[in-house]
Amino acid sequence: MTNQYAKLNIANKEPADCIDFRSDTVTLPSAEMFQAMVGAKLGDDVYGEDRATNELQDYAAELLGKEAALFFPTGTQSNLSAILSHCQRGDEVLIGREYHTFVYEAHGASVLGGVGICTIDTNHRGSVSVEDMLAHIKADDPHFGITKLLCLENTVSGRVQPQAQIDELSDAAHARGLKVHLDGARLFNAHIHTGLSLKDLCYSLDSVSICLSKSLGSPAGSLLVGDQETIRKAKRLRKILGGGMRQVGVLAACGMYALKNNVARLQEDHDNARRLTQGLSECRGLQVSVDESQTNMAFFHCPKEHRENLQLLLLENNILVPKLSSASRLVCHLGISRADIDFTVQVFKAYFSSQ
Ligand SMILES: *Cc1c(COP(=O)(O)O)cnc(C)c1O
Repeated sequence: MTNQYAKLNIANKEPADCIDFRSDTVTLPSAEMFQAMVGAKLGDDVYGEDRATNELQDYAAELLGKEAALFFPTGTQSNLSAILSHCQRGDEVLIGREYHTFVYEAHGASVLGGVGICTIDTNHRGSVSVEDMLAHIKADDPHFGITKLLCLENTVSGRVQPQAQIDELSDAAHARGLKVHLDGARLFNAHIHTGLSLKDLCYSLDSVSICLSKSLGSPAGSLLVGDQETIRKAKRLRKILGGGMRQVGVLAACGMYALKNNVARLQEDHDNARRLTQGLSECRGLQVSVDESQTNMAFFHCPKEHRENLQLLLLENNILVPKLSSASRLVCHLGISRADIDFTVQVFKAYFSSQ
């Protein structure tokens, strides 16, 4: 498996001068977002006295149509706290094989919570089927773990999950006594793509984790939303995991700014990803996955013989991309403009026309 977080040698580059397609986590706060930090009403959040954090949590719960929300430093800690709120030691969680909670969270649920992880196959859209999900729920038998939770994801590497599929999976899991958690790190991209309200996207789910630090442009922070009881348990787990922060309103203020100002603009990122996909597909020598580019990502296969030289040429032009591979992924975000897309396509085309 390639490591998508592999480091590039960019020590001599100013991040702000680069067109950085590595991830939508690389965004820097805007002047307005910094201004929001300066104005934040702060207090000790472990005492529940940080007004900026309380306001953000109330706002997010209302936005997603749930009872309560809790601020976390990272999505990994938010997902882990959700899983451990729903599961005890010896229980089991079902997770799609390619989902972040299985692949990129170092098996925290097992390591720290004694929760078994059972994976379910995902199809080309990143979805698990109801039939497969049901088949993986264990019988009440002392040989097996106790299946307690289904963990879904939306979007899955930029692909929007059909809402009917999410709702059907949730209903089927609930009918068998399971809870359902959604890793919605990029749920807002699904919201913009489908036009469905966040409440509708979350209606059938027991808990949802959203990232403020991805395409929404906050420097850090995630929120877990759900019912009062789940959030109460998650608060204890957050403390255990070392995530109880003090005047964290400086970050919550960024999150509030992001939720109020950076959601509708995601359409620009989706348009840019589409424009990039289109441009790259005009390069003879690249195989571009046009169908996969639904939200803010472009995908292509870069043949082995081009990887090193193309990567170098891009770097010389201050264009940062993940290590080129058979499954390259370029991510658009608020730090990348339409002009940046056009320039990038120009560099790709220049490379391939010189071959
Ligand atoms: C980024 C991400 C997370 C959380 O990552 P953190 O870096 O811990 O905030 C979780 N799920 C998905 C799908 C992600 O892309």
